Amino acid sequence: MDHCHTSGLISLEQALEKLLAQTVPLTAIPLVTTETINLTESTGRITATDIISPINVPPFDNSAMDGYAVRLADLNENQILPVAGKVLAGVPFQGEWPTGSCIRIMTGAPIPSGADAVVMQEQTEVTETGVCFTHPVKQGQNIRTIGEDITQNAVVLPQGIKLSTAQLPLVASLGIATVDVVRKLKVAIFSTGDELQAIGEPLQAGQIYDTNRFAVRIMLEKLDCEVIDLGVIRDDPDTLRQAFIEADKQADLVISSGGVSVGEADYTKQILDEVGKISFWKLAIKPGKPFAFGKLENAWFCGLPGNPVSAVLTFYQLVQPLIAHLSGFTAWRPPMRLTAKTTTPLKKSPGRLDFQRGIAAINKNGELEVQTTGHQGSHIFSSYSLGNCFIVLERERGHIAAGETVQIEFFNHLLKNQ
Ligand code: AMP
Ligand code: MG
Repeated sequence: MDHCHTSGLISLEQALEKLLAQTVPLTAIPLVTTETINLTESTGRITATDIISPINVPPFDNSAMDGYAVRLADLNENQILPVAGKVLAGVPFQGEWPTGSCIRIMTGAPIPSGADAVVMQEQTEVTETGVCFTHPVKQGQNIRTIGEDITQNAVVLPQGIKLSTAQLPLVASLGIATVDVVRKLKVAIFSTGDELQAIGEPLQAGQIYDTNRFAVRIMLEKLDCEVIDLGVIRDDPDTLRQAFIEADKQADLVISSGGVSVGEADYTKQILDEVGKISFWKLAIKPGKPFAFGKLENAWFCGLPGNPVSAVLTFYQLVQPLIAHLSGFTAWRPPMRLTAKTTTPLKKSPGRLDFQRGIAAINKNGELEVQTTGHQGSHIFSSYSLGNCFIVLERERGHIAAGETVQIEFFNHLLKNQ
């Protein structure tokens, strides 16, 4: 290991542990941070309480088939039962059900009182005098019983999950029209740097476009945060101080990019020392070594590295779990890592955990394979657009030959929609 290069570095796990240990979720003050909203507007929101079923599902015994409701006592060998009436979904059976008869019933229709079973019509023969049952009939067959799916007062969904298509129709099926959710996390963002130009404006000599604020904004929107965009802040102490103070007043979390490199002639560190309690970390990951984290007067603070590839990576690996934690999304889980075989050699020096960008696919033998996207420099943003996964290379590993086994992590919705 190259000790000159790696002394004083902290691992990603350590950084994440510190980040989570030092921060307090919004849900720590539930009354202030919970809001009741319409179910139709709740996609992407986090449940502030358990969701309890107000009803049984199904709410009544009903038929699983089109056929005939019968009483077992009426069924003797080869007996033909006349049809005493009909029940349809939404229309319960009313009236008398004479002994020795059956009732025509449709899928979803309420089971008439006293019925023991439903016989599907494929197991019957209809004659002029009634219905002949051609198969043995068992007690309870083809009856969906009340509460079989969900019982009244059962916890249907726990607190701390993000509502989406997998859950919302379930909540709707219980007739619930509003839900208690955690209020959106307010995140103020700005970029720092005299060289940064807004998109849509012509570049002057020495300028580059502000990629980070754009990237961070999209990722925050994907994470269902409320974004407060404070623009580009020049490398000037007073402007920078003012930006931090403004951001801190409005937000739960402030995210800046640039100016956090160690030993840099930059004002960000100096100002941050004045306005908050901030640690400057050198992370043992590549890309994305510098990262600042701490507390301003009111809000939490994350300082992302200036290079866009590093800014996105540190956001993805550190800010994403932090936001889940802050917004009470306790069910959040880090992206899964899978084992794949690399089909291309991968350049790596020992000492940092690499998140190289790769293209993974299943080969014709059904095995998971990955190849590099090419140049892995922290200024090559196209590596994200070409790739579909991170190739996660362990800290102590060196160059990797084609055919070796590596870990991969497919990009989630923050980076790529399927
Ligand atoms: P810094 O940490 O401020 O020295 O920035 C490191 C590198 O990232 C420099 O090449 C900057 O020009 C570049 N950079 C900083 N902020 C941004 C940004 N918002 N968008 C694109 N590049 C940036
Ligand atoms: Mg800068």
